[in-house]
Amino acid sequence: MSKQKAIVIGAGIVGLSTAYYLNKRGVEVEIIDAGDGTNNCSYGNAGYISPSHIIPLASPGIISQGLRWMLNPESPFYIKPRLDADLIRWGLLFKKASNAARVNAAAPVLKDLMVKSQQLYEEIIQDESIDAGYRKPGLLMICKTKEALHHEVELVEMAQKLGLDAEVLTREATEKLEPNVEYDMVGSVYFGCDAWMTPHNFMKLFQERIKESGIKIHFKNELQRIVKIGNKITEIITNEGSYSADHYVITAGSWSPLLAKQIGLRIPLQGGKGYSFMLPSPPKMTTLPSILVEGRLATTPMQDGLRFAGTMELTGLNHKVNQNRVNGIIKSIKEFMPDFRAVDFSEVKTWAGLRPCTPDGLPYIGATKNSRNLYIGTGHAMLGWTLGPVTGQLLAEQITEGQMSISSPLIGVDRYA
Ligand SMILES: Cc1cc2nc3c(=O)[nH]c(=O)nc-3n(C[C@H](O)[C@H](O)[C@H](O)COP(=O)(O)OP(=O)(O)OC[C@H]3O[C@@H](n4cnc5c(N)ncnc54)[C@H](O)[C@@H]3O)c2cc1C
Repeated sequence: MSKQKAIVIGAGIVGLSTAYYLNKRGVEVEIIDAGDGTNNCSYGNAGYISPSHIIPLASPGIISQGLRWMLNPESPFYIKPRLDADLIRWGLLFKKASNAARVNAAAPVLKDLMVKSQQLYEEIIQDESIDAGYRKPGLLMICKTKEALHHEVELVEMAQKLGLDAEVLTREATEKLEPNVEYDMVGSVYFGCDAWMTPHNFMKLFQERIKESGIKIHFKNELQRIVKIGNKITEIITNEGSYSADHYVITAGSWSPLLAKQIGLRIPLQGGKGYSFMLPSPPKMTTLPSILVEGRLATTPMQDGLRFAGTMELTGLNHKVNQNRVNGIIKSIKEFMPDFRAVDFSEVKTWAGLRPCTPDGLPYIGATKNSRNLYIGTGHAMLGWTLGPVTGQLLAEQITEGQMSISSPLIGVDRYA
């Protein structure tokens, strides 16, 4: 019997992982990507592999907090008001999903996915000899105020109930874990369940290993048209030509809904822009990654410097950098980390990436009734780096066995169809 063939559309962490696990299961795989293989949302992120992130973006209180932030040009959150039917529908669905019952249902599903994905990263790193600075344990949630720390305690209790390693630390206990950098804080939360790495180095090496394993990657190939006959995709057309296979997987991040829409599949999703920049020689290098809670900012010690990441802007599919918000990030860093001065940031180059955000904060993973040989893996929002490998493995299971070892209607592709 001839080998089954699959085409994966999109070479971010989700697409690469899907191709990797399909190839391991004996499927012939080709990847097509519109970019040049050196940059997408999977490169400039904060690099956390964080099972602690069990609360999806859509959660109680987020709407009122978001509306307050909208009035401040330096705030970490912004939606550009515009008459766009997809954005309006997304907003209504987001509001509907932002309730405690939904969060309580989502948390264990996310936890299972994230714990599994962390384990898969460790396997990939070992099996493929990838040195991307993977380290565990630890993530600190640094709180400037008692109110913020009090709020984080609720998250700790929820995480502990789900079996995750989480504890509240005093200022003194935090300083013992992080002796290198001074924080202006009342205390922190420590997540021993979390890990981190240097994502751009991982992506480069993972891509190399994937090519060595025989998977072809066609860069600068933008999918332009999907040909569907009856209930089946027969061909895809890119700017470079046409490709056909037994199975097609859309892992095109924030652009996925545009592709799905061509064949009448609705997967509500908005690109949530975030920024990051790196200090190659910071005045102080942190030992552990940290989230500066009130500033909604992430810091990560990486192989080639200290990275800061933050903001969430829903301003459409573009990578334009809003300098006001970058200034807001720098201001927050200085407020939290007195060792850092404005001059330390005078030469930073800001990177922008689009997080694929679903209205309920859970990804779309699996098959769809729309076409019997189409599969979707996207919508991981702030958790896409963490969830890449597990998504790839689950899609490979779905394609080769017809079912996924972790499944839930909450991550179903057709839940808004
Ligand atoms: C500032 C910031 C910090 C973050 N920090 C973290 C973190 O610490 N931990 C975490 O878990 N997550 C984090 N994330 C989220 C994470 O980076 C994303 O969720 C994840 O990278 C998405 O991966 P992806 O493979 O779905 O999409 P992408 O990496 O965006 O890849 C999609 C690919 O599809 C291709 N494509 C698009 N359209 C087409 C087309 N028509 N034809 C062919 N190819 C196409 C694109 O060229 C691209 O290469 C962060 C995000 C940001 C912005």
